[in-house]
Amino acid sequence: CGVFGVFGCHGAAEITYFGLHSLQHRGQEGAGIVACDNGSMKRIKGQGLVTEVFKEGSLDKLPGDMAIGHVRYSTAGGSSIENVQPFLFNHHTGPFALCHNGNLVNSNELKKFCEDRGSLFQSTSDSEILAHLIQKNYNDRTFIYSLKSALEMLDGAFAFLVMLGDKLIAARDKYGLRPLSIGKINGGYVVSSETCAFEVINAKFVRDVNPGEVVEISKDGIKSTYYSNMNKHHMCAMEYIYFSRPDSELEGRNVHAFRKASGKLLYKEMPTKADIVIGVPDSSLSAAIGYAEESKIPYEMGLIKNKYVGRTFIQPSQAMREKGVRMKLSAVSSIIKGKRVILIDDSIVRGTTSKRIVALLREAGAKEVHVRISSPQITNPCFYGVDISTYDELISARLDLEGVREYIGADSLYFLSKEALFEAAERNDLCLACFTGKYPTALYHAVKDANKD
Ligand code: 5GP
Ligand code: SF4
Ligand code: MG
Repeated sequence: CGVFGVFGCHGAAEITYFGLHSLQHRGQEGAGIVACDNGSMKRIKGQGLVTEVFKEGSLDKLPGDMAIGHVRYSTAGGSSIENVQPFLFNHHTGPFALCHNGNLVNSNELKKFCEDRGSLFQSTSDSEILAHLIQKNYNDRTFIYSLKSALEMLDGAFAFLVMLGDKLIAARDKYGLRPLSIGKINGGYVVSSETCAFEVINAKFVRDVNPGEVVEISKDGIKSTYYSNMNKHHMCAMEYIYFSRPDSELEGRNVHAFRKASGKLLYKEMPTKADIVIGVPDSSLSAAIGYAEESKIPYEMGLIKNKYVGRTFIQPSQAMREKGVRMKLSAVSSIIKGKRVILIDDSIVRGTTSKRIVALLREAGAKEVHVRISSPQITNPCFYGVDISTYDELISARLDLEGVREYIGADSLYFLSKEALFEAAERNDLCLACFTGKYPTALYHAVKDANKD
């Protein structure tokens, strides 16, 4: 998911709309904005892309100089409308709204805790839990005090935005798993899952929210406190490898620069003779450029992606599928024919993408296809909000390297080492749990749900 918030700017909903549009790659299932005008909050949310949910004139219904917004990618809870964020609550002290990116690992335990004390949940999304916990901790104390006590009870990955009538609050999990950055704009502030959203609205990067930190933005400026003393830096490696946009800076390291460096290391670790290098669009292009630069093998546009295949695109009938309708990717035979091809992809999850593309390249006349993956083998599920959640679906949890090579039909296959990820990221504290099985948090019910036998 992606979260975006604005404080102290006229037309906050419109700025949020543009912010969410640049975070669209983080979730395409739903989008929503809540705007606050002198303490009164209004919301529009719906299923689909940002441009589908907000039509001409929608934003006029969301006045105010403060807003938060969300794009949804469902990993916990279904994709139904109740689970589309932000959530909006009416409290006797005034309304508040919140939205969340990430995944809690102790959500079952916390839901039961809240239900035993009278809560009724409206959604199956684990993000609603924070609102109930805040309320449970409220008792005559300040909102911030109860928010911090609530955050302390959460385990897992999150970037939360909470909007009160007069302030915007941003909080990040104490493990530093999910990104969250602060920017400055026209005397106001913005907060975003990724810095790529700052460019489009002409905001200036200020700093990242720190792990375990609660940042309060109000007319008095920025106030920083911590809800936890145990603060670590385990940024999700997959944010660098696949999830984030290449123009984002994740904790000071540019995503394209990371991917390009990983492509160079991919060649250094396993030098291979070939005629052309091809990247799987779009997330693997940076790594392919790095591989080509290091190997001096020419980079070619051997695969073209049709950018207009959206969710609403009519699915081909079985008959059309048998005729070989391939909507998303086309191989360019005049480039590929007779060539020894290095095919770069960022990751193998189920193996379906690589298998399909190797077949496409062979049909287009490739002489050899050597698949190089710019991440290690994914042998463990992620419980922190990336959609690789069971052992069964992970091909590398079931098959060894040779088994995966045979399945995808490549002449050779190589995965980047974990050490190379650290080198490319210029840090060695990334979360690598899906590659190593060493999770930075406790796991509660999560492992059982992931079908570990
Ligand atoms: P597979 O086809 O092996 O199941 O998935 C790998 C491909 O899907 C890669 O090309 C990667 O770019 C893309 N992909 C789509 N969603 C995800 C995701 O949530 N995690 C990862 N690692 N890759 C994904
Ligand atoms: Fe990211 Fe993998 Fe860690 Fe999940 S387990 S947070 S995908 S590095
Ligand atoms: Mg891909």
